[in-house]
Amino acid sequence: MKIRVNDVHPVKKTEQIRTLIKKVINDVARMENNNRLLSQCPICNGQIDFFTNINGFDLFSCNDCEHIFCNPYPTYEQLNRCYNGEIKKLENEIFLETFDKRVEIFLPRVDLLCRLKKDGKLLDIGSAVGVFIDALEKRNSRYHITCCDISRDSCEQLRKKNPDQSINIICDDFMNLDESSNNKFDIITLWDTIEHIIDVDGLLGKIKRLLNPNGIIAFSTPNTQSFLWSIAGTNHPQLTPPTHLNLFNTKSAHLLLNKNGFNVIEQHSLNASIDISFVKNLIKNKQAPIQNIGNFFQQCLNDPMFDEMLEKYLVSSHKAGNLIFIAKFSQ
Ligand SMILES: [Zn+2]
Repeated sequence: MKIRVNDVHPVKKTEQIRTLIKKVINDVARMENNNRLLSQCPICNGQIDFFTNINGFDLFSCNDCEHIFCNPYPTYEQLNRCYNGEIKKLENEIFLETFDKRVEIFLPRVDLLCRLKKDGKLLDIGSAVGVFIDALEKRNSRYHITCCDISRDSCEQLRKKNPDQSINIICDDFMNLDESSNNKFDIITLWDTIEHIIDVDGLLGKIKRLLNPNGIIAFSTPNTQSFLWSIAGTNHPQLTPPTHLNLFNTKSAHLLLNKNGFNVIEQHSLNASIDISFVKNLIKNKQAPIQNIGNFFQQCLNDPMFDEMLEKYLVSSHKAGNLIFIAKFSQ
């Protein structure tokens, strides 16, 4: 079944949380921040340029790897204020309200993991209310699961959902996790978490120390070279500094992984129905510049795969340049 954007972002609550975030972030942007303004890309050390300002925070982009990041990065005091109880509580309400649809998004991810490793110890960093954990259960996965989340509210929800204590729940910053030899993992997952982290090299270093030999890491993060990004531009809903601090594309993600000693085994981009429905909403609300739509399709036309798909579409929807009729005399 196709998942659409409103299935996972219910209109009313999404509007509520946007208003709340705007209110909180206005105050946060005015808080003192003495962090250093970076003069190079944090991923590849390439040259950077100002990209846009959102919520009072400057975003820069790299001329080489096109990584987008908040510059300067916010302080921990500013982040603590953003992740206050009120926003997290409303976010968790949205997660719970749309739980089943979100589980559907995660089922293909579980299938990918099970194909690579059938069992072993799995650590999920940033589990939130446990959508991924539910997807693991739905697929009867055989992993021994540990969840780590810094939010008390989220861990409370996780405990409620797992009263039999079959999973290990750690309510702490993942950087504090025990690295002793009896606490190594075969799989470490981070779903939509890495974009919230300032020190992404530090994160991968920690993960490396927590992985068993032959262990794997799996993560998802917004793709700044997606269909939706190409159309929405600087109005993209994922441009939410200071909560989203590092926004990746294929090239910058590969560079980050490689420089920290990881090799990409597989790369995927799933659930495109959400992007398509989002773009349709933008078009309906006159928030999708025609120029952006034109640019996206112009680039696509150079891709042989798109070319072939478009040809099939034009033929089957009778939109090719010729019309051929075959008729028969009925009476
Ligand atoms: Zn770069």
